[in-house]
Amino acid sequence: MTSEAVMPTYGRQDVAFTSGEGAWLTDSNGKRYLDALSGLAVVILGHANPAVARTLADQGSTLLHTSNLYHIPQQEQLAEKLKAISGMDNMFFANSGAEANECAIKIARLYGHKQGIDNPSIIVADASFHGRTLATLTATGNRKVQAGFEPLVHGFVRVPYNDVEAVNSVAEHNKSVVAVMVEPIQGEGGIRVPDDDYLKELRRICDEHDWLLILDEIQTGNARTGTYFCYQQSGIVPDVVTVAKGLGNGIPIGVCLARGKASEVLGPGNHGSTFGGNPLSCAVGNTVLDEVERLDLATRAAELGDRMMAQFQERLGGLNNVRDIRGKGLMIGIELDQPCGELVGKALEKGLLINVTAERVVRLLPPLIISDEEAEQIVNGVCDLIESA
Ligand SMILES: *Cc1c(COP(=O)(O)O)cnc(C)c1O
Repeated sequence: MTSEAVMPTYGRQDVAFTSGEGAWLTDSNGKRYLDALSGLAVVILGHANPAVARTLADQGSTLLHTSNLYHIPQQEQLAEKLKAISGMDNMFFANSGAEANECAIKIARLYGHKQGIDNPSIIVADASFHGRTLATLTATGNRKVQAGFEPLVHGFVRVPYNDVEAVNSVAEHNKSVVAVMVEPIQGEGGIRVPDDDYLKELRRICDEHDWLLILDEIQTGNARTGTYFCYQQSGIVPDVVTVAKGLGNGIPIGVCLARGKASEVLGPGNHGSTFGGNPLSCAVGNTVLDEVERLDLATRAAELGDRMMAQFQERLGGLNNVRDIRGKGLMIGIELDQPCGELVGKALEKGLLINVTAERVVRLLPPLIISDEEAEQIVNGVCDLIESA
């Protein structure tokens, strides 16, 4: 089943899915699977979502692509919607998370240069994940992602995550810093939830030093953690925020949103993308936002997530091999006391799709449209696996 014509950059499970519906996938043998991963936080409205399918068909038979050399009404409409949701001022449309972060990094650098800082640097965190392009893999706090791709990009300073003092101490001796870039909850890093006041403290430090606060909400965004953006639960607004994954429900799209001084940095010729913000991806983005709002999926994610975590706590909290159960909304991590990558295959055999990240953290990112029964099935399936692990 594995074609050697594809570069072996992924270790793949031995299964191919041929169709889907809601939270369910069917493989080439007709076996059904409950999807507790959503293709990594992407398919938030579920597979083969009728509203998305209609938009795809309509837009596909009307106009797929023009160019950013012309006005794109679907893009402007999506921008206005995201602006209203986020409290940001403007945005750049790209095709992926990494590209959205590249835009954020470029904004920070140009912002620095405009202030006369010749070697602008960005504070990033341990165990972070920001993408696989050269700049974003350098920003990523994982040696495995970087090894062999040196020379890495200059201009990043690393601090421990959830450590405000470490950021303060960089501020004291490093005058080249122009921004702090973190995830509100670390996804790949193991669903690491920082202290409640972490973002607020970072906001305060950034204001004090005139730095930009950049939040990578590529995984935490799109209503997953209980509000459209995770930062909306901490009473602050960033200067730059990036979002991707769930916004297209499977159609590639990434966005870098900016506010205030950060929104005035990029001008004509500073950045671009052939595909970014095309009529198709933006039409789908508009439909996804409409559905998220119509079904109030943010509230649903918060409620269902709380319920699932309480159930996990009840069944797994006392087990010796379970270190921690944590998350927000439908972004849930269960940390075990040892590497547990084999659980992914065991779950697959039982017809359940889960993920393990940071070696020992079972990660759940189900579609936001799952029913109460499906949520219960996920909880039971995962608990059975961990109890017998
Ligand atoms: C997935 C992810 C990215 C990278 O997005 P791609 O679309 O794969 O480039 C960046 N940051 C975070 C937090 C992510 O979860």
